[in-house]
Amino acid sequence: MVTAGSATAAGVSPAPLIELRDIRKSYGGKTEGPDGKPLPAVDVLRGVSLSIGAGEFVAIVGASGSGKSTLMHILGCLDHPSAGHYLFAGQDIADFNADELAWLRREAFGFVFQGYHLIATESARENVEVPAIYSGVPVAEREKRAAALLTRLGLGDRLDHRPSQLSGGQQQRVSISRALMNGGHILLADEPTGALDSRSGAEVMLLLEELAEAGHTVILITHDREVAARAHRTIEIRDGQIIADSTGGPVSSGRASLDASTFLASMADGAAHTASWTADTHEALRAAWRVLWINRFRTLLTLLGIIIGVASVIVMLAIGAGTEHQVIEKMASFGTNRMYVIPGGDNPRGPGGTLSEADADLVRQMPNVTASMPFLQGNVTVRYSNIDVQVPVWAVTEEASRVLNWKTSRGIFFTGTDEQDLATVILLGKRVREKLFGNTNPVSHYVLVNNVPFQVIGELEEKGATSGDSDDDNVVLMPFSTGSRRILGTTNLSWISVLVDRLDLADQTAQQIADTLEGNHHIRDFEVFNRAASVKAQTETQSTLTLMLGMIAAISLLVGGIGVMNIMLMTVRERTREIGIRIATGARQRDILRQFLTEATLVSGIGGVLGVVFGLLVGASLMAWSVPAIFSVRAILGAFTCALLTGLIFGFMPARKAARLDPVIALASE
Ligand code: ADP
Ligand code: MG
Repeated sequence: MVTAGSATAAGVSPAPLIELRDIRKSYGGKTEGPDGKPLPAVDVLRGVSLSIGAGEFVAIVGASGSGKSTLMHILGCLDHPSAGHYLFAGQDIADFNADELAWLRREAFGFVFQGYHLIATESARENVEVPAIYSGVPVAEREKRAAALLTRLGLGDRLDHRPSQLSGGQQQRVSISRALMNGGHILLADEPTGALDSRSGAEVMLLLEELAEAGHTVILITHDREVAARAHRTIEIRDGQIIADSTGGPVSSGRASLDASTFLASMADGAAHTASWTADTHEALRAAWRVLWINRFRTLLTLLGIIIGVASVIVMLAIGAGTEHQVIEKMASFGTNRMYVIPGGDNPRGPGGTLSEADADLVRQMPNVTASMPFLQGNVTVRYSNIDVQVPVWAVTEEASRVLNWKTSRGIFFTGTDEQDLATVILLGKRVREKLFGNTNPVSHYVLVNNVPFQVIGELEEKGATSGDSDDDNVVLMPFSTGSRRILGTTNLSWISVLVDRLDLADQTAQQIADTLEGNHHIRDFEVFNRAASVKAQTETQSTLTLMLGMIAAISLLVGGIGVMNIMLMTVRERTREIGIRIATGARQRDILRQFLTEATLVSGIGGVLGVVFGLLVGASLMAWSVPAIFSVRAILGAFTCALLTGLIFGFMPARKAARLDPVIALASE
């Protein structure tokens, strides 16, 4: 293979590896300074033209401030020229998209900076691996290669040291290893010895010479003529212009490592190539975990915000649901899940209408109906020894205990058998018992009901205390069959008492009952009273309360999210230089975006899990204090998902900010 330099001399003229044509770079002019006035334009590069062939060892020398670093940033595709053309292997890089430029940075170039620019949180080996991560090299392979490079450069025993645990010369050797990680075809070294003592500096120079000898194209920037003299070609720059170029210096005796056009031909594949999704995610998680762990106190504070947010959502929703349930239960105990079917239509001139036991049986078959009880009301005279009382009698079935939510305080309720046998048994309300029996136990005594002897089988517990109506205790209960046939002499019901299961379906059930009975009677000679409707209004109020609790909780979750945004913005600011390093070593915008989004998601994910655990613990201890609470899987999953989403949403803006950082500015930040 011929090198570009000698080829040009021979007149064959394949494109040189790098060609700059009248490159200009100016700062200011358009952008505004801190005082609001436009900054004066500074022309840093004023028409630089040069060409560099594969395998050359070039030194660019010039005084401080002459524009060397600016030139190198342009050469390394870290910065755009203001004017002029930059041809890489004959192709204008102005035509390359961001991914293709990232590919050039990681596959073609290897940067060595004066200030080393290593990622402080990663070990020597991990730093060296960075360019390979972005080109999708499998973990095992890149670890092996990084270790081999570091060992070759004499750092075999320092693989796991952090940059801060290494000397300047060692750090610079790490950065040279990193430059070589993906091949390092073109090494761009900006004052690589500038920060080193003379011995370490000499070592680094020796290394660069060796690499040039081995076929790497080396572009060395220095203000030191002695150092520059070690290169085979010297380009001198002053005030942004080339004033001398010793073109024609010897090209490396080794073979140039790069056939430029073949290399460029692989760009289409390489730019698109990434590691597998899982490898990328794994890498992002690893890096994110590292950073969060190193800043663990700050992470903890952010976590706390999310934990409290998630936990309060869970606890508040649980308490909301718990009290709602409690209210419904309480109302059910007042009989609000009851309905009544009452004979007679709403038209006063219409037919009177009657309801029979058969109608009650019909209603019992309907869906959502759990009890349907014929109810016959009348008045009787009850006598015991020489005391007579006039009291209302309720002829009901054995379902009454459940339908009326009424238990006995003494004795037992009548049964289905009593109902079938027309048994002459009676239950006394509390006030009736007081009138007839005083404070003695009435159970198993006989009383006369309209002169028919009945055995008292029980006394009802006080109802007035819960219903607020003490007349409710001034009644007697007997089996429906006995009451209708033996005492009251009618089977026309006063009403049917209906119990429904689900209150939310009460309206439908009421409608179905009405339709069915109307179908049977061929006339609407009854009315259905739906007390459940009032319960519904009550539960709706309660739901509003739950909603408000939920909103308070959501706000605290939002505050947690803002915490994530805050930590992420700080992280991005703090790690601007790291971002610059990653971009300089070939990270695409999406790699940076993924890295920061992963951090945000990891914080909020961990916060979410801990929040769920904390919320359950708090809820459980509240329940131990008999605060009503009902946990729902939906609320828990919802709170967790919200936490994750707030992390993602609030992490996105800082992450995007990081991904869009200008690499040169990012690198310059401290
Ligand atoms: P060298 O590396 O040769 O010392 P540089 O390329 O770093 O020089 O800088 C050349 C000139 O460009 C300097 O005068 C510097 O002040 C100016 N310069 C560099 N970067 C910027 C910038 N971002 N904005 C304005 N001026 C800049
Ligand atoms: Mg410089």
